[in-house]
Amino acid sequence: MKIYQNYINGEWVDSASGEFSDVINPATEEVIAQVTSSNEADVDAAVEAANAAFPEWNEMGIEARKLHLERLYDKMVEYQQEIANTIVEELGASRTFSEKAHVPLSVNEMRATLDDISDFKFIDQIDNAIIQKEGFGVVACITPWNYPFNQIQRKVTPALVAGNTVVVKPASDTPISAILYAKLADEAGLPKGVFNVVTGSGGTVGDYLAGHKDVPLISFTGSTEVGRGLYEKASPTIKKMILELGGKSVMLGLPGADKFKAVKQAADTVLNNQGQTCAALTRLLVPESEYDEYLEVIKDYYANNAAVGSPDSHDTKVGPMVSKRQMETVLEYIEKGKAEGAELLIGGNAIEGTGYYVEPTVFVDVTNDMTIAQEEIFGPVLSVIKYKTVEEAIDIANDTPFGLSGAVTGPDRNEAIKVAKKIRTGNVYVNQGARSPRAPFGGYKESGLGRENGLYGVEDYLEIKAIMA
Ligand code: NAP
Repeated sequence: MKIYQNYINGEWVDSASGEFSDVINPATEEVIAQVTSSNEADVDAAVEAANAAFPEWNEMGIEARKLHLERLYDKMVEYQQEIANTIVEELGASRTFSEKAHVPLSVNEMRATLDDISDFKFIDQIDNAIIQKEGFGVVACITPWNYPFNQIQRKVTPALVAGNTVVVKPASDTPISAILYAKLADEAGLPKGVFNVVTGSGGTVGDYLAGHKDVPLISFTGSTEVGRGLYEKASPTIKKMILELGGKSVMLGLPGADKFKAVKQAADTVLNNQGQTCAALTRLLVPESEYDEYLEVIKDYYANNAAVGSPDSHDTKVGPMVSKRQMETVLEYIEKGKAEGAELLIGGNAIEGTGYYVEPTVFVDVTNDMTIAQEEIFGPVLSVIKYKTVEEAIDIANDTPFGLSGAVTGPDRNEAIKVAKKIRTGNVYVNQGARSPRAPFGGYKESGLGRENGLYGVEDYLEIKAIMA
């Protein structure tokens, strides 16, 4: 079994704690590795290294930083297969989804930012003022387990491009992706201290890092609950916050929409990655007059496209939940759905045997006030909700504390875009529009603050100074 150290100041180092925690393969329930359970002394060492590296990294200018980051990008491309293998093993995402989604997301998003950054104005002039944009200093990157490699990439690329240095605290369920990231940074020869990884629990490492006096920016992706706590934690020292939080997004099927396309897009977001996707389209809104036809399309789609099995197989679409705890959370939500009067069309149970598997599940006769329509389940659970008019559907779409993503499918593209503009979320897909790696990603309302990806993402990591000369 492998035992991994922290990566601090360009070195692999033991934790001051001398303690370790297990990493479990959720399909086999076997311990596949151990990582250090770091403590405050480890965080201090990482922040000190990142702080020491900051002035030179910040002042070297974008073209010099870009040369380093191009080498990191080359390493990411070189290690694509190992990244995919790691995601299959520690997260349980299917091999196909790991290879065709997780890894390309990282490669394409980093490529897009590096391609666009040369045209970005770090220096501008307004009247007699020189406007200089530069890094904040040390960025604490606290990441979740659901896209364990790309959530790091989405923070590290813009943070480093902007001139900051980083300390990454990965999720405890999936820390090996972060260790692999550090290996790439090491082989790419990033200057010492620019990129650091400290593993350990959120309550210890994450909490201390987020409140650290030498960390001016916290970039957090995770649950709204933890994000809210960090917001409070950051207030005494007025830290800048980037918060990428939860969601409860809709697929709105307009009257006369292509039902198969609407169902496929929504269902795939709750089947791939086992529905552990912040932007998953977990509420399918359909016209009352077309309800029965939708249910037939759903049954047919699930019968042919929801193969559950070992994530290691290319034939599998739905693997295990990331952890026993996550499996139990999903099953509790399914029980709440039943208790509040929703009907099960498909699934609804745990799958007996080894691994943390939950059946792909579809609830019908869901109303938007039910818990399963309001709270983020983060599992392979779809809720079908009827509406009478398009105005009512838009109200239902917006009747949630979240505002992350959404989708509209309709027979007329322009009409669908008009509806998309009324949905109060940071992203909306119209008629299965593709996602650009340079388009901003982030949420309205309790889904967060700030944007990731492309040059909008870089902006969030920049301080702005006006020099009147
Ligand atoms: P989480 O429980 O909030 O944890 C996220 C990270 O925060 C982990 O590294 C965790 O460490 C750490 N953490 C936990 N408690 C902390 C504390 N008190 N102080 C500082 N750090 C702490 O979220 P998750 O279960 O990993 O991820 C799922 C959530 O992420 C969902 O809500 C999903 O919607 C959201 N998400 C949002 C986006 C987006 O872009 N908007 C993208 C992906 C995921 P431990 O692992 O050690 O607990």
